Amino acid sequence: MRPWSLRGWLLFVSVLFAVLVVGGVALTTYVIVADGMQSVVLETTERVASAGAVIAREAVVVEQAAAETEGLTGDELERNVRLRLKDSLPDRLAASGLTGARFALYDADGSLLWYSSPQALYPQSEQARRGVMSTGKTRRTVLQRADFLRGLVREAQLGVNVVHVPLRLLGDSTGVLDVAYVPSTEEQVIDRIRLPMLVLAISAMVVMAFLMQTSMTWVLNLVDELRRAADSIDAGRLDERLPELGENEIGALARSLNQLIERLGRRAEAQARFVADASHELATPVAGIRGYTSILRAWGSDDPKVREEAIDAIDRESRRMARLTSDLLNLLHADQGLRLKTEQFDLNAIVRDRLASTASRFIERGIEFEGPDDESLIMVGDPGRVEDVLSILLDNAAKYTSAGGRVSVKTWRRREMITIFVADTGKGIPRDDLPRLFDRFFRSEAARAAGEGGFGLGLAIAKSILDNMNGTIAVDSEPGVGTTFLITLPRGRI
Ligand code: ADP
Repeated sequence: MRPWSLRGWLLFVSVLFAVLVVGGVALTTYVIVADGMQSVVLETTERVASAGAVIAREAVVVEQAAAETEGLTGDELERNVRLRLKDSLPDRLAASGLTGARFALYDADGSLLWYSSPQALYPQSEQARRGVMSTGKTRRTVLQRADFLRGLVREAQLGVNVVHVPLRLLGDSTGVLDVAYVPSTEEQVIDRIRLPMLVLAISAMVVMAFLMQTSMTWVLNLVDELRRAADSIDAGRLDERLPELGENEIGALARSLNQLIERLGRRAEAQARFVADASHELATPVAGIRGYTSILRAWGSDDPKVREEAIDAIDRESRRMARLTSDLLNLLHADQGLRLKTEQFDLNAIVRDRLASTASRFIERGIEFEGPDDESLIMVGDPGRVEDVLSILLDNAAKYTSAGGRVSVKTWRRREMITIFVADTGKGIPRDDLPRLFDRFFRSEAARAAGEGGFGLGLAIAKSILDNMNGTIAVDSEPGVGTTFLITLPRGRI
Protein backbone atom coordinates (compact mmCIF):
# COMPACT_ATOMS: atom_id res chain seq x y z
CA MET A 1 0.00 0.00 0.00
CA ARG A 2 1.52 3.33 -1.03
CA PRO A 3 1.57 5.72 1.98
CA TRP A 4 -0.81 8.31 0.56
CA SER A 5 -2.77 6.23 -1.85
CA LEU A 6 -6.57 6.59 -1.70
CA ARG A 7 -6.64 3.59 0.64
CA GLY A 8 -4.14 5.26 2.97
CA TRP A 9 -6.13 8.48 3.01
CA LEU A 10 -9.37 6.67 3.68
CA LEU A 11 -7.79 4.71 6.53
CA PHE A 12 -6.47 7.93 8.05
CA VAL A 13 -9.80 9.72 7.60
CA SER A 14 -11.82 6.82 9.04
CA VAL A 15 -9.61 6.54 12.13
CA LEU A 16 -9.67 10.32 12.63
CA PHE A 17 -13.44 10.35 12.16
CA ALA A 18 -13.92 7.49 14.65
CA VAL A 19 -11.67 9.17 17.23
CA LEU A 20 -13.37 12.54 16.84
CA VAL A 21 -16.93 11.22 16.90
CA VAL A 22 -16.54 8.63 19.65
CA GLY A 23 -14.11 10.77 21.66
CA GLY A 24 -16.47 13.73 21.33
CA VAL A 25 -19.48 11.70 22.46
CA ALA A 26 -17.54 10.18 25.40
CA LEU A 27 -16.14 13.54 26.52
CA THR A 28 -19.55 15.23 26.29
CA THR A 29 -21.16 12.41 28.27
CA TYR A 30 -18.45 12.65 30.94
CA VAL A 31 -18.82 16.43 31.24
CA ILE A 32 -22.62 16.14 31.49
CA VAL A 33 -22.33 13.48 34.23
CA ALA A 34 -19.67 15.43 36.14
CA ASP A 35 -21.64 18.67 35.87
CA GLY A 36 -24.78 16.89 37.11
CA MET A 37 -22.84 15.47 40.05
CA GLN A 38 -21.47 18.91 40.88
CA SER A 39 -24.99 20.33 41.01
CA VAL A 40 -26.06 17.44 43.24
CA VAL A 41 -23.11 18.18 45.56
CA LEU A 42 -23.98 21.88 45.82
CA GLU A 43 -27.62 21.10 46.50
CA THR A 44 -26.70 18.48 49.12
CA THR A 45 -24.35 20.92 50.87
CA GLU A 46 -27.12 23.54 51.10
CA ARG A 47 -29.64 20.98 52.28
CA VAL A 48 -27.31 19.52 54.90
CA ALA A 49 -26.40 23.03 56.08
CA SER A 50 -29.98 24.14 56.66
CA ALA A 51 -30.95 20.81 58.22
CA GLY A 52 -27.84 20.92 60.45
CA ALA A 53 -28.68 24.49 61.56
CA VAL A 54 -32.22 23.45 62.53
CA ILE A 55 -30.90 20.48 64.54
CA ALA A 56 -28.19 22.55 66.23
CA ARG A 57 -30.70 25.26 67.17
CA GLU A 58 -33.04 22.61 68.58
CA ALA A 59 -30.16 21.12 70.59
CA VAL A 60 -29.29 24.56 72.04
CA VAL A 61 -32.92 25.17 73.09
CA VAL A 62 -33.31 21.68 74.59
CA GLU A 63 -29.97 21.69 76.42
CA GLN A 64 -30.54 25.24 77.74
CA ALA A 65 -33.94 24.22 79.10
CA ALA A 66 -32.43 21.12 80.73
CA ALA A 67 -29.66 23.16 82.37
CA GLU A 68 -32.16 25.72 83.58
CA THR A 69 -34.33 23.01 85.17
CA GLU A 70 -31.25 22.04 87.14
CA GLY A 71 -31.30 25.59 88.48
CA LEU A 72 -28.11 26.69 86.75
CA THR A 73 -27.60 30.34 85.74
CA GLY A 74 -24.97 32.71 84.30
CA ASP A 75 -21.54 31.32 83.43
CA GLU A 76 -22.33 28.00 85.02
CA LEU A 77 -25.37 27.60 82.80
CA GLU A 78 -23.30 28.49 79.76
CA ARG A 79 -20.53 26.02 80.60
CA ASN A 80 -23.11 23.33 81.25
CA VAL A 81 -24.90 23.93 77.98
CA ARG A 82 -21.56 23.75 76.12
CA LEU A 83 -20.78 20.41 77.69
CA ARG A 84 -24.25 19.07 76.97
CA LEU A 85 -24.06 20.23 73.34
CA LYS A 86 -20.74 18.41 72.84
CA ASP A 87 -22.39 15.21 74.07
CA SER A 88 -25.70 15.41 72.33
CA LEU A 89 -24.97 17.10 68.97
CA PRO A 90 -23.22 14.13 67.30
CA ASP A 91 -26.11 11.82 68.23
CA ARG A 92 -28.75 14.29 67.08
CA LEU A 93 -27.01 14.84 63.74
CA ALA A 94 -26.44 11.10 63.28
CA ALA A 95 -30.10 10.43 64.13
CA SER A 96 -31.12 12.82 61.33
CA GLY A 97 -28.92 11.00 58.82
CA LEU A 98 -26.48 13.91 58.39
CA THR A 99 -23.37 11.75 58.65
CA GLY A 100 -21.52 12.53 55.40
CA ALA A 101 -20.94 16.18 56.32
CA ARG A 102 -18.43 17.93 58.59
CA PHE A 103 -19.73 20.34 61.23
CA ALA A 104 -18.09 22.93 63.44
CA LEU A 105 -19.94 25.23 65.84
CA TYR A 106 -18.49 28.59 66.85
CA ASP A 107 -19.91 30.95 69.47
CA ALA A 108 -20.40 34.69 69.21
CA ASP A 109 -16.78 35.59 69.95
CA GLY A 110 -15.53 33.14 67.32
CA SER A 111 -14.27 30.50 69.73
CA LEU A 112 -14.91 26.88 68.85
CA LEU A 113 -17.77 25.23 70.75
CA TRP A 114 -17.82 21.86 69.09
CA TYR A 115 -16.64 20.10 65.89
CA SER A 116 -17.43 16.75 64.31
CA SER A 117 -13.86 16.06 63.17
CA PRO A 118 -10.59 18.02 63.01
CA GLN A 119 -11.06 18.25 59.18
CA ALA A 120 -14.15 20.38 59.87
CA LEU A 121 -11.97 23.26 61.06
CA TYR A 122 -11.20 25.76 58.36
CA PRO A 123 -9.02 28.60 59.71
CA GLN A 124 -9.15 30.26 56.27
CA SER A 125 -12.89 30.85 56.76
CA GLU A 126 -12.53 32.98 59.87
CA GLN A 127 -13.27 36.19 58.01
CA ALA A 128 -16.37 34.68 56.45
CA ARG A 129 -17.57 33.60 59.91
CA ARG A 130 -17.08 37.09 61.28
CA GLY A 131 -19.09 38.45 58.40
CA VAL A 132 -21.93 36.04 59.21
CA MET A 133 -21.94 37.14 62.86
CA SER A 134 -22.08 40.82 61.97
CA THR A 135 -24.69 40.55 59.19
CA GLY A 136 -26.64 37.49 60.37
CA LYS A 137 -26.64 36.16 56.79
CA THR A 138 -25.44 32.79 55.49
CA ARG A 139 -22.12 32.82 53.59
CA ARG A 140 -20.24 30.29 51.49
CA THR A 141 -16.54 29.61 51.05
CA VAL A 142 -15.12 27.59 48.18
CA LEU A 143 -12.51 25.37 49.80
CA GLN A 144 -11.52 23.38 46.80
CA ARG A 145 -12.49 24.13 43.22
CA ALA A 146 -14.01 21.40 41.02
CA ASP A 147 -11.69 20.09 38.30
CA PHE A 148 -13.81 18.24 35.77
CA LEU A 149 -11.13 17.14 33.33
CA ARG A 150 -8.91 15.73 36.10
CA GLY A 151 -11.49 12.98 36.52
CA LEU A 152 -10.76 11.73 32.99
CA VAL A 153 -7.29 10.51 33.99
CA ARG A 154 -7.10 10.55 37.80
CA GLU A 155 -9.57 10.54 40.68
CA ALA A 156 -12.44 12.91 40.15
CA GLN A 157 -12.50 16.18 42.10
CA LEU A 158 -15.90 17.80 42.42
CA GLY A 159 -14.90 20.63 44.78
CA VAL A 160 -15.78 21.32 48.43
CA ASN A 161 -17.85 24.27 49.69
CA VAL A 162 -18.35 25.35 53.27
CA VAL A 163 -21.64 26.95 54.21
CA HIS A 164 -21.49 29.27 57.23
CA VAL A 165 -24.98 29.42 58.79
CA PRO A 166 -25.85 31.97 61.51
CA LEU A 167 -27.23 30.28 64.62
CA ARG A 168 -28.86 31.78 67.74
CA LEU A 169 -27.10 30.50 70.84
CA LEU A 170 -27.62 31.37 74.47
CA GLY A 171 -29.44 34.58 75.06
CA ASP A 172 -29.29 36.82 72.02
CA SER A 173 -25.76 35.90 70.93
CA THR A 174 -25.24 34.68 67.36
CA GLY A 175 -22.85 31.84 66.67
CA VAL A 176 -21.93 30.18 63.36
CA LEU A 177 -22.38 26.61 62.23
CA ASP A 178 -19.80 25.59 59.53
CA VAL A 179 -21.10 22.81 57.33
CA ALA A 180 -18.93 21.20 54.67
CA TYR A 181 -20.11 18.35 52.53
CA VAL A 182 -17.29 16.19 51.14
CA PRO A 183 -18.54 14.66 47.86
CA SER A 184 -16.62 11.41 48.12
CA THR A 185 -19.65 9.27 47.10
CA GLU A 186 -20.27 11.37 44.01
CA GLU A 187 -16.57 11.34 43.13
CA GLN A 188 -16.57 7.57 43.50
CA VAL A 189 -19.45 7.31 41.03
CA ILE A 190 -17.42 9.24 38.49
CA ASP A 191 -14.32 7.17 39.20
CA ARG A 192 -16.30 3.99 38.76
CA ILE A 193 -17.73 4.92 35.37
CA ARG A 194 -14.34 6.07 34.02
CA LEU A 195 -12.91 2.66 33.13
CA PRO A 196 -16.07 1.17 31.52
CA MET A 197 -16.51 4.42 29.62
CA LEU A 198 -12.93 4.31 28.38
CA VAL A 199 -13.23 0.66 27.36
CA LEU A 200 -16.55 1.37 25.65
CA ALA A 201 -15.16 4.41 23.83
CA ILE A 202 -12.06 2.58 22.60
CA SER A 203 -14.15 -0.44 21.51
CA ALA A 204 -16.57 1.89 19.70
CA MET A 205 -13.65 3.63 17.96
CA VAL A 206 -12.13 0.32 16.88
CA VAL A 207 -15.48 -1.09 15.68
CA MET A 208 -16.34 2.14 13.85
CA ALA A 209 -12.94 2.39 12.16
CA PHE A 210 -13.11 -1.31 11.28
CA LEU A 211 -16.60 -1.04 9.77
CA MET A 212 -15.69 2.08 7.79
CA GLN A 213 -12.49 0.49 6.60
CA THR A 214 -14.24 -2.75 5.60
CA SER A 215 -16.92 -0.96 3.60
CA MET A 216 -14.36 1.30 1.94
CA THR A 217 -12.15 -1.66 1.10
CA TRP A 218 -15.18 -3.37 -0.43
CA VAL A 219 -15.95 -0.31 -2.57
CA LEU A 220 -12.30 0.16 -3.55
CA ASN A 221 -12.00 -3.52 -4.48
CA LEU A 222 -15.02 -3.11 -6.76
CA VAL A 223 -13.42 -0.03 -8.32
CA ASP A 224 -10.16 -1.96 -8.70
CA GLU A 225 -11.95 -4.83 -10.37
CA LEU A 226 -13.62 -2.36 -12.70
CA ARG A 227 -10.27 -0.72 -13.49
CA ARG A 228 -8.65 -4.07 -14.24
CA ALA A 229 -11.54 -4.98 -16.52
CA ALA A 230 -11.34 -1.55 -18.22
CA ASP A 231 -7.57 -1.99 -18.69
CA SER A 232 -8.15 -5.32 -20.36
CA ILE A 233 -10.53 -3.82 -22.93
CA ASP A 234 -8.54 -3.07 -26.01
CA ALA A 235 -9.34 0.18 -27.81
CA GLY A 236 -9.82 -1.82 -30.97
CA ARG A 237 -11.99 -4.55 -29.41
CA LEU A 238 -15.09 -2.78 -28.25
CA ASP A 239 -17.19 -5.93 -28.06
CA GLU A 240 -16.05 -6.67 -24.49
CA ARG A 241 -18.00 -5.43 -21.47
CA LEU A 242 -17.19 -4.50 -17.87
CA PRO A 243 -18.65 -6.70 -15.10
CA GLU A 244 -21.84 -5.07 -13.77
CA LEU A 245 -21.31 -5.78 -10.08
CA GLY A 246 -24.75 -5.56 -8.43
CA GLU A 247 -27.42 -2.92 -8.05
CA ASN A 248 -25.20 -0.27 -6.46
CA GLU A 249 -23.40 2.89 -7.56
CA ILE A 250 -20.39 0.90 -8.81
CA GLY A 251 -22.74 -1.35 -10.81
CA ALA A 252 -24.39 1.79 -12.22
CA LEU A 253 -20.95 3.18 -13.17
CA ALA A 254 -20.11 -0.10 -14.93
CA ARG A 255 -23.45 0.00 -16.76
CA SER A 256 -22.84 3.60 -17.86
CA LEU A 257 -19.34 2.71 -19.07
CA ASN A 258 -20.73 -0.33 -20.88
CA GLN A 259 -23.30 1.88 -22.60
CA LEU A 260 -20.50 4.27 -23.56
CA ILE A 261 -18.41 1.38 -24.92
CA GLU A 262 -21.46 0.17 -26.82
CA ARG A 263 -22.03 3.62 -28.31
CA LEU A 264 -18.34 3.89 -29.23
CA GLY A 265 -18.54 0.42 -30.77
CA ARG A 266 -21.60 1.36 -32.80
CA ARG A 267 -19.93 4.55 -33.90
CA ALA A 268 -16.72 2.77 -34.86
CA GLU A 269 -18.77 0.21 -36.78
CA ALA A 270 -20.75 2.96 -38.52
CA GLN A 271 -17.54 4.76 -39.41
CA ALA A 272 -15.97 1.60 -40.79
CA ARG A 273 -19.12 0.93 -42.81
CA PHE A 274 -19.14 4.53 -43.99
CA VAL A 275 -15.53 4.37 -45.18
CA ALA A 276 -16.19 1.01 -46.90
CA ASP A 277 -19.33 2.38 -48.59
CA ALA A 278 -17.58 5.61 -49.61
CA SER A 279 -14.65 3.67 -51.08
CA HIS A 280 -17.06 1.37 -52.85
CA GLU A 281 -19.00 4.30 -54.32
CA LEU A 282 -15.77 5.98 -55.41
CA ALA A 283 -14.45 2.74 -56.91
CA THR A 284 -17.19 2.66 -59.58
CA PRO A 285 -16.44 6.05 -61.24
CA VAL A 286 -12.70 5.50 -60.81
CA ALA A 287 -12.97 2.14 -62.58
CA GLY A 288 -15.04 3.83 -65.31
CA ILE A 289 -12.46 6.57 -65.80
CA ARG A 290 -9.61 4.06 -65.94
CA GLY A 291 -11.49 1.90 -68.46
CA TYR A 292 -12.24 4.81 -70.75
CA THR A 293 -8.65 6.09 -70.40
CA SER A 294 -7.42 2.69 -71.65
CA ILE A 295 -9.88 2.86 -74.55
CA LEU A 296 -8.64 6.38 -75.38
CA ARG A 297 -5.05 5.19 -75.33
CA ALA A 298 -5.79 2.19 -77.55
CA TRP A 299 -8.20 3.61 -80.10
CA GLY A 300 -8.70 7.28 -79.31
CA SER A 301 -6.18 8.60 -81.85
CA ASP A 302 -7.70 6.58 -84.72
CA ASP A 303 -11.42 6.78 -84.11
CA PRO A 304 -12.91 10.23 -83.35
CA LYS A 305 -16.28 8.63 -82.40
CA VAL A 306 -14.66 6.44 -79.76
CA ARG A 307 -12.66 9.43 -78.56
CA GLU A 308 -15.80 11.59 -78.12
CA GLU A 309 -17.63 8.77 -76.35
CA ALA A 310 -14.69 8.14 -73.99
CA ILE A 311 -14.29 11.84 -73.19
CA ASP A 312 -18.05 12.14 -72.47
CA ALA A 313 -17.92 9.11 -70.20
CA ILE A 314 -14.84 10.36 -68.32
CA ASP A 315 -16.56 13.74 -67.89
CA ARG A 316 -19.73 12.02 -66.56
CA GLU A 317 -17.79 9.82 -64.14
CA SER A 318 -15.64 12.67 -62.85
CA ARG A 319 -18.80 14.76 -62.26
CA ARG A 320 -20.22 11.83 -60.33
CA MET A 321 -17.02 11.72 -58.24
CA ALA A 322 -17.23 15.45 -57.63
CA ARG A 323 -20.87 15.07 -56.49
CA LEU A 324 -19.92 12.23 -54.16
CA THR A 325 -16.98 14.08 -52.60
CA SER A 326 -19.16 17.17 -52.16
CA ASP A 327 -21.87 15.03 -50.46
CA LEU A 328 -19.27 13.41 -48.22
CA LEU A 329 -17.86 16.78 -47.24
CA ASN A 330 -21.35 18.12 -46.46
CA LEU A 331 -22.03 15.13 -44.26
CA LEU A 332 -18.68 15.46 -42.53
CA HIS A 333 -19.31 19.14 -41.79
CA ALA A 334 -22.81 18.46 -40.49
CA ASP A 335 -21.46 15.67 -38.27
CA GLN A 336 -18.74 17.88 -36.85
CA GLY A 337 -21.33 20.46 -35.82
CA LEU A 338 -22.47 23.29 -38.04
CA ARG A 339 -21.88 26.91 -37.27
CA LEU A 340 -25.45 28.12 -37.63
CA LYS A 341 -26.54 31.67 -38.36
CA THR A 342 -29.36 33.22 -36.36
CA GLU A 343 -31.35 35.52 -38.55
CA GLN A 344 -34.95 36.31 -39.22
CA PHE A 345 -36.26 35.11 -42.56
CA ASP A 346 -39.42 34.26 -44.46
CA LEU A 347 -39.67 30.47 -44.69
CA ASN A 348 -42.43 30.58 -47.32
CA ALA A 349 -40.31 32.76 -49.61
CA ILE A 350 -37.49 30.21 -49.40
CA VAL A 351 -39.93 27.34 -50.09
CA ARG A 352 -41.29 29.14 -53.20
CA ASP A 353 -37.75 29.83 -54.41
CA ARG A 354 -36.69 26.16 -53.96
CA LEU A 355 -39.89 24.95 -55.67
CA ALA A 356 -39.19 27.23 -58.64
CA SER A 357 -35.60 26.03 -58.91
CA THR A 358 -36.63 22.32 -58.74
CA ALA A 359 -39.42 22.92 -61.23
CA SER A 360 -37.01 24.48 -63.71
CA ARG A 361 -34.62 21.53 -63.41
CA PHE A 362 -37.36 18.94 -63.85
CA ILE A 363 -39.43 20.94 -66.37
CA GLU A 364 -39.55 18.10 -68.93
CA ARG A 365 -41.24 15.76 -66.37
CA GLY A 366 -44.52 17.65 -66.38
CA ILE A 367 -44.91 17.61 -62.59
CA GLU A 368 -47.17 20.03 -60.81
CA PHE A 369 -45.51 21.98 -57.96
CA GLU A 370 -47.62 23.46 -55.22
CA GLY A 371 -46.39 25.94 -52.58
CA PRO A 372 -47.56 27.01 -49.11
CA ASP A 373 -50.93 28.72 -48.67
CA ASP A 374 -49.76 31.73 -46.68
CA GLU A 375 -47.83 34.60 -48.16
CA SER A 376 -45.16 34.49 -45.49
CA LEU A 377 -44.06 32.60 -42.38
CA ILE A 378 -41.38 34.36 -40.37
CA MET A 379 -38.92 32.33 -38.33
CA VAL A 380 -35.41 32.69 -36.90
CA GLY A 381 -32.55 30.40 -37.81
CA ASP A 382 -30.10 29.67 -40.58
CA PRO A 383 -31.94 30.18 -43.91
CA GLY A 384 -29.08 28.59 -45.88
CA ARG A 385 -29.40 25.29 -44.00
CA VAL A 386 -33.18 25.28 -44.32
CA GLU A 387 -32.66 25.76 -48.08
CA ASP A 388 -30.24 22.79 -48.17
CA VAL A 389 -32.76 20.47 -46.48
CA LEU A 390 -35.60 21.66 -48.75
CA SER A 391 -33.44 21.17 -51.87
CA ILE A 392 -32.66 17.56 -50.90
CA LEU A 393 -36.31 16.71 -50.22
CA LEU A 394 -37.65 18.49 -53.31
CA ASP A 395 -34.98 16.90 -55.53
CA ASN A 396 -35.97 13.46 -54.24
CA ALA A 397 -39.68 14.20 -54.60
CA ALA A 398 -39.18 15.30 -58.21
CA LYS A 399 -36.78 12.43 -58.99
CA TYR A 400 -39.14 9.73 -57.75
CA THR A 401 -42.36 11.21 -59.14
CA SER A 402 -43.44 10.46 -62.68
CA ALA A 403 -45.11 12.72 -65.22
CA GLY A 404 -48.47 14.13 -64.20
CA GLY A 405 -47.66 13.78 -60.51
CA ARG A 406 -47.68 16.51 -57.91
CA VAL A 407 -45.13 17.79 -55.41
CA SER A 408 -46.44 20.07 -52.69
CA VAL A 409 -44.98 21.88 -49.71
CA LYS A 410 -47.08 23.16 -46.80
CA THR A 411 -45.85 25.09 -43.78
CA TRP A 412 -47.39 25.83 -40.37
CA ARG A 413 -46.54 27.49 -37.18
CA ARG A 414 -47.81 25.94 -33.96
CA ARG A 415 -46.80 27.74 -30.79
CA GLU A 416 -42.99 27.80 -30.89
CA MET A 417 -42.61 25.09 -33.54
CA ILE A 418 -42.57 25.29 -37.33
CA THR A 419 -43.74 22.30 -39.35
CA ILE A 420 -42.84 21.75 -43.01
CA PHE A 421 -44.67 19.12 -44.95
CA VAL A 422 -43.14 17.91 -48.26
CA ALA A 423 -45.40 15.49 -50.11
CA ASP A 424 -45.30 13.86 -53.52
CA THR A 425 -47.48 11.50 -55.49
CA GLY A 426 -44.48 9.45 -56.65
CA LYS A 427 -43.73 5.78 -56.52
CA GLY A 428 -43.39 5.66 -52.73
CA ILE A 429 -41.03 3.68 -50.54
CA PRO A 430 -41.50 0.05 -49.45
CA ARG A 431 -42.47 -0.24 -45.72
CA ASP A 432 -39.40 -2.34 -44.95
CA ASP A 433 -37.07 0.39 -46.23
CA LEU A 434 -38.52 3.16 -44.06
CA PRO A 435 -36.48 2.44 -40.87
CA ARG A 436 -33.18 2.60 -42.84
CA LEU A 437 -34.11 5.53 -45.03
CA PHE A 438 -31.90 8.04 -43.18
CA ASP A 439 -28.88 5.68 -43.02
CA ARG A 440 -25.81 6.70 -44.95
CA PHE A 441 -25.61 5.23 -48.49
CA PHE A 442 -29.05 3.69 -48.18
CA ARG A 443 -30.89 3.40 -51.45
CA SER A 444 -33.98 1.31 -52.04
CA GLU A 445 -33.50 -1.76 -54.18
CA ALA A 446 -35.75 -0.32 -56.84
CA ALA A 447 -33.76 2.95 -56.97
CA ARG A 448 -30.52 0.98 -57.11
CA ALA A 449 -31.76 -1.31 -59.88
CA ALA A 450 -33.13 1.55 -61.93
CA GLY A 451 -29.85 3.45 -61.47
CA GLU A 452 -31.92 6.39 -60.25
CA GLY A 453 -30.87 9.02 -57.76
CA GLY A 454 -27.54 9.66 -56.11
CA PHE A 455 -25.46 7.87 -53.55
CA GLY A 456 -28.01 7.49 -50.77
CA LEU A 457 -26.47 10.40 -48.81
CA GLY A 458 -29.11 13.11 -49.35
CA LEU A 459 -31.48 12.14 -46.53
CA ALA A 460 -28.56 11.39 -44.16
CA ILE A 461 -27.26 14.94 -44.82
CA ALA A 462 -30.75 16.42 -44.28
CA LYS A 463 -31.13 14.58 -40.97
CA SER A 464 -27.69 15.60 -39.76
CA ILE A 465 -28.40 19.28 -40.59
CA LEU A 466 -31.76 19.10 -38.77
CA ASP A 467 -30.09 17.49 -35.75
CA ASN A 468 -27.80 20.50 -35.64
CA MET A 469 -30.84 22.80 -35.69
CA ASN A 470 -32.70 20.86 -32.97
CA GLY A 471 -35.20 19.81 -35.59
CA THR A 472 -36.68 16.45 -36.50
CA ILE A 473 -37.57 14.64 -39.68
CA ALA A 474 -40.05 11.79 -40.16
CA VAL A 475 -41.35 9.97 -43.19
CA ASP A 476 -44.52 8.24 -44.21
CA SER A 477 -44.96 6.52 -47.54
CA GLU A 478 -47.31 4.27 -49.44
CA PRO A 479 -45.82 2.46 -52.43
CA GLY A 480 -47.59 3.55 -55.58
CA VAL A 481 -49.37 6.43 -53.81
CA GLY A 482 -46.67 8.81 -52.65
CA THR A 483 -44.29 9.91 -49.93
CA THR A 484 -44.56 12.55 -47.24
CA PHE A 485 -41.71 14.03 -45.20
CA LEU A 486 -42.53 15.95 -42.05
CA ILE A 487 -39.97 18.38 -40.66
CA THR A 488 -40.25 20.23 -37.37
CA LEU A 489 -38.02 23.12 -36.37
CA PRO A 490 -37.99 25.50 -33.44
CA ARG A 491 -39.34 28.89 -34.51
CA GLY A 492 -36.34 30.52 -32.87
CA ARG A 493 -35.92 33.97 -31.30
CA ILE A 494 -33.48 36.74 -31.87
P1 ADP B 1 -30.40 9.55 -53.10
O1 ADP B 1 -29.44 10.63 -53.34
O2 ADP B 1 -29.96 8.21 -53.55
O3 ADP B 1 -31.78 9.91 -53.48
P2 ADP B 1 -31.34 9.89 -50.47
O4 ADP B 1 -30.66 9.70 -49.15
O5 ADP B 1 -31.82 11.24 -50.77
O6 ADP B 1 -30.35 9.37 -51.54
O7 ADP B 1 -32.52 8.87 -50.56
C1 ADP B 1 -32.31 7.53 -50.16
C2 ADP B 1 -33.33 6.63 -50.80
O8 ADP B 1 -34.64 6.93 -50.34
C3 ADP B 1 -33.44 6.83 -52.28
O9 ADP B 1 -32.52 5.99 -52.94
C4 ADP B 1 -34.86 6.40 -52.57
O10 ADP B 1 -34.90 4.98 -52.73
C5 ADP B 1 -35.61 6.74 -51.34
N1 ADP B 1 -36.37 8.02 -51.44
C6 ADP B 1 -36.03 9.19 -50.93
N2 ADP B 1 -36.98 10.12 -51.18
C7 ADP B 1 -37.95 9.50 -51.88
C8 ADP B 1 -39.21 9.92 -52.42
N3 ADP B 1 -39.64 11.17 -52.30
N4 ADP B 1 -39.95 8.98 -53.06
C9 ADP B 1 -39.52 7.72 -53.16
N5 ADP B 1 -38.35 7.26 -52.68
C10 ADP B 1 -37.57 8.15 -52.05
